[in-house]
Amino acid sequence: MSTATLTRLSGAVTDATVSGRLWLYSNYHCNLACAYCLTESAPKVPRRELAGARMLELAEQAGPLGFTGLGVTGGEPFLRTDLPELLRELAGHLPVLVLTNGTLFTRRLLDRIAPLADLPVAVQISLDRPEADDNDLLRAPDNFRKVIQAIPRLVERGHEVRIATTLLAEDAPELARLCDLHRSLGVSDEHHLVRPVVRRGRASTGGMGVLAVDTDLAPELTVTVDGAFWSPFGPTVTAGVLDVDLLVTRRTDPLAYAVDRLLDLAEGRPPGDDNVLNIR
Ligand code: SF4
Repeated sequence: MSTATLTRLSGAVTDATVSGRLWLYSNYHCNLACAYCLTESAPKVPRRELAGARMLELAEQAGPLGFTGLGVTGGEPFLRTDLPELLRELAGHLPVLVLTNGTLFTRRLLDRIAPLADLPVAVQISLDRPEADDNDLLRAPDNFRKVIQAIPRLVERGHEVRIATTLLAEDAPELARLCDLHRSLGVSDEHHLVRPVVRRGRASTGGMGVLAVDTDLAPELTVTVDGAFWSPFGPTVTAGVLDVDLLVTRRTDPLAYAVDRLLDLAEGRPPGDDNVLNIR
């Protein structure tokens, strides 16, 4: 454990220079292929999976380095058959937020994740529009029905559920109706997150969303099988190629190395040779 890194990261988290959450990209494949997907995820794309053992190693190092939480995202994390057990083990290290499209919560999966209701694991589900047709247009047929069925089932079983809404600017008037909907499903305003479509990945190819550069994105160390990135909006895929403009370093072992490089950048110090993120 690096005491110097712990001191640096803890200070940066306390003064909100850097997020206390360490993001892990569990995989890149998905059962959907949304029109604005940052990672061009789809059923048959390369999986780019972080091995479960590697995720646990990172989680084990994260707490002693000063991280306060973990985020798991993809792709669709619940396509991994080891995810329920993995989340349980990750939560033994730090509180976990797992992002999902909410379409895979069959009775069997709900039974498998039941133990997570007693652990610090929150489930964040994407829901974009208050009506099925609009919602499914950018996501997938039947997405809305599956999501609004899954959310109350999870809430009833005691899981902490959050809803993430990705909006195009012109959708803003729909927000009030969407808020009525998420409240009716048992999710409070406090657990409803709204963000714009970010013009990266498939959204970039489709000319959708807002441009975001490093200064628009909070520093949140994000580890994938390819390296460590500035933010979970960093390791995107465009035209089948991984975007490296927000790559911090390819080296993630030990995790302290990547943390120090992120902090160097966040504190405005010149990046080292191993750094391709030009944010000076
Ligand atoms: S936006 Fe999420 S649900 Fe949609 S294809 Fe991408 S990873 Fe899958």
